[in-house]
Amino acid sequence: NKIEDDYVMGEALGKGKFGSVFMCRSKLTGVEFACKTLPKGEETVHREVEIMQHLSGHPGVVTLQSVYEDGESFHLVMELCSGGRLIDRMTKEGRFSEQKAANIFKDLMLVTQYCHDMGVVHRDIKPENILLTASGKIKLADFGLAMRIANGQSLSGLAGSPAYVAPEVLTGDYGKKTDIWSAGVLLHALLVGVLPFQGGSLDALFEAIKSMKLDFHSEKWQSVSKPARDLLERILTRDVAARITAEEVLSHPWMLFYTERTL
Ligand code: ADP
Ligand code: MG
Ligand code: MG
Repeated sequence: NKIEDDYVMGEALGKGKFGSVFMCRSKLTGVEFACKTLPKGEETVHREVEIMQHLSGHPGVVTLQSVYEDGESFHLVMELCSGGRLIDRMTKEGRFSEQKAANIFKDLMLVTQYCHDMGVVHRDIKPENILLTASGKIKLADFGLAMRIANGQSLSGLAGSPAYVAPEVLTGDYGKKTDIWSAGVLLHALLVGVLPFQGGSLDALFEAIKSMKLDFHSEKWQSVSKPARDLLERILTRDVAARITAEEVLSHPWMLFYTERTL
């Protein structure tokens, strides 16, 4: 079947580096989906599809419904996240309360832990790639840079988004802990309202990531609770071995305090 046989294309949802994402509606059921169209020749499409299928057992991963192929493109029909991107909510709402940040971060760490347990490193965790359902639940999306790694295997080569990239990615081999760093950059943005590492140029930004000391006692931190600062410090640690895992994040006192009672 061609995608046009099964779906009616709708409005644009987003544009990425390689392809674009449109809303679409199943002709058979009337259900709406998101369709990411990627040009052929990008051999990474196969990896993106394979990894999404591999990760289909978790509610925090965007579900891949079906894949179509035509002359120039692959079309990935995915579950529609009609709540939009986390980044847009952050832009609109500014700093999040610790309660709200902790609950979003808990869901992010649960899905990250699942990816890691399944042998997948996402490599592009950032609020542009975290989508929301109609009811506000988060879904991790965009597995275009994700890689499967065996136990003990590591990756090399610069990948990700500059502001979120972990220091070890800039200097050598890296693995799953790179996702924890990126998530920590996001947590910093949620709690403080700004990204932790900035620079006027790419070089300056990378230099800050590699060596800038985060001052958790500075003015802007006074409104953030001590346990939240403690967690952030344990995540944004350059020593990869000392940086905590998703599982350890989930049992950190700050997480337990704000998330245990809400369900
Ligand atoms: P890229 O690899 O090009 O960054 P993404 O997979 O991140 O592509 O998709 C680009 C944008 O399209 C997202 O930031 C989001 O705005 C939108 N988008 C992607 N998937 C969905 C989806 N399942 N539901 C709703 N919007 C989506
Ligand atoms: Mg993306
Ligand atoms: Mg991508």
